[in-house]
Amino acid sequence: MSLKLDGKKLSLEIEEKLKKDIEANLNSTKRPPGLAVIRIGEDPASGVYVKNKERACSRVGIKSFIFHLKDTVEQNEVEQLINKLNVDSDIDGMLLQLPIPEKFDEQKLISFINPEKDVDGLNEQNIGKLVKNEPAMRSCTPAGIINLLRSQNITIEGKKIVVIGRSLLVGKPLSLMLLNLNGTVTITHSKTINLNKICKEADILIAAAGKPNLIDSSFVKEGAVIIDVGIHRLTSSDMSKTKLCGDVLLEDVIPKVFAYTPVPGGVGPMTVTMLLVNTIFSWQKQFVLSLTLNDLLP
Ligand code: NAP
Repeated sequence: MSLKLDGKKLSLEIEEKLKKDIEANLNSTKRPPGLAVIRIGEDPASGVYVKNKERACSRVGIKSFIFHLKDTVEQNEVEQLINKLNVDSDIDGMLLQLPIPEKFDEQKLISFINPEKDVDGLNEQNIGKLVKNEPAMRSCTPAGIINLLRSQNITIEGKKIVVIGRSLLVGKPLSLMLLNLNGTVTITHSKTINLNKICKEADILIAAAGKPNLIDSSFVKEGAVIIDVGIHRLTSSDMSKTKLCGDVLLEDVIPKVFAYTPVPGGVGPMTVTMLLVNTIFSWQKQFVLSLTLNDLLP
């Protein structure tokens, strides 16, 4: 029987630890960790993600500060807000909820975020440190995937790993983290020729293409580990029901693999948990506390 890599269960276990780490230091710090979330515009999915982050913060004792801006604001106003939060001593972490409306220069805004507070790990200074394999804030979805693999003692070193997708958010940082952990990594994308054949060689196959049910059992080696990063809401033909699915046709793939992540309940919850980890890590650094979360930061 295949092993389910249960991100929901692991994230609850990690949250228990995070809660205790905060409680143990509140007497000396006199304030909880603080996370600022900047949302621009009315993208409904972003609304759900921000709510989830807010709830997760309150479960472990992080104070969240939500800045919901209208899409009529100007780039320089958002930059000013980021600059203000950069020096706000109650804020340990800050993120810009993506996607933002097209009129904004997303990369420029991210580059304004103080790297010490960049809990999404997307600022070029943190990406640069990842490239150099130096400690820094790591992006949440890739770090969550590494922790899921580690939680079941799935070895990365020496494994053939194929990552489908090369985005700045997932594919690239994930590939670098796996490389730093001595995996033999192949990065694939929409222009890759013979994707099926390349994937079939993978000991660990990670699908982050953003294409529902792209990967069926014909892409997967017997006994491989499959990680499904994709998340899609599909509507039935009569529009009466919706269902979440990933990039992997799971029912076809599960009988063939050693381990898999479900959708929902796999990578998604780990992404949110890593955001909490990064925020608390930054708070611990700010107050020169012992850094108890190093093991969770690849
Ligand atoms: P993205 O920016 O759209 O990038 C998708 C990547 O996949 C691109 O590099 C693209 O190639 C590649 N790709 C697209 N179609 C392909 C195909 N047919 N064959 C091979 N490669 C293909 O998406 P993203 O932000 O990385 O996110 C990917 C998925 O993960 C989405 O479904 C997203 O919702 C999900 N996600 C989930 C979480 C979570 O917490 N669960 C977090 C983040 C993202 P090109 O570069 O050539 O265009």
